[in-house]
Amino acid sequence: MIGSKLKETFDGVVSLLIGLKITFKNFLKPNLTVHYPRKTVKPEELTGYRGHIELVPKPENPFVPRCIGCGLCRDICPSGCIEVRSKRIAEEKEIHTPHFGLQDTPLDLTRKVAPPQKTKIEIVSFELNYNYCSLCGLCVQNCPAGSLRFSKDIYLASFSSRDFEFDLLKRLEKQAQARLKEEEEWTK
Ligand code: SF4
Ligand code: SF4
Repeated sequence: MIGSKLKETFDGVVSLLIGLKITFKNFLKPNLTVHYPRKTVKPEELTGYRGHIELVPKPENPFVPRCIGCGLCRDICPSGCIEVRSKRIAEEKEIHTPHFGLQDTPLDLTRKVAPPQKTKIEIVSFELNYNYCSLCGLCVQNCPAGSLRFSKDIYLASFSSRDFEFDLLKRLEKQAQARLKEEEEWTK
């Protein structure tokens, strides 16, 4: 009886010491969290952080997304939180047209024509309802144009769900404007 009580106490002390060892080991490690809002972290310090998705711009034009309007992200999203609308528009091309008309008709060498087979896709709207997003990453992984990535929007907070409904095209435009402004300030 006394023997089993002693063993129970001994096991308890050993278990306590193991727990305290782990506590002290972690106590001496640097902090992984910060006391927000007294202290904040820079988004670029958080590698691998997944914020809501955002559009990636074309390298030659920061206002236009790489998106080709295929709709794959919308179809693959398990939460149904992406809505993409696009339209096909005829691409105008300047061509030189030979003149076979009457001599008094002015010669138009740069008449614009829109060949019906030459069209391009324009993204009309790209909306994300972040309230339903599970950050699974399927849209980012499967986009054939590399047009989606996770944002580094780390301090996103609101009392209204409407604030988590994003117009990603407008967001891209704002980002491009901010980038241009930054570049202008650098060149001053
Ligand atoms: S999968 Fe990519 S290219 Fe296709 S609609 Fe979505 S963002 Fe655009
Ligand atoms: S991360 Fe997943 S849930 Fe979120 S928008 Fe993309 S596919 Fe949908």
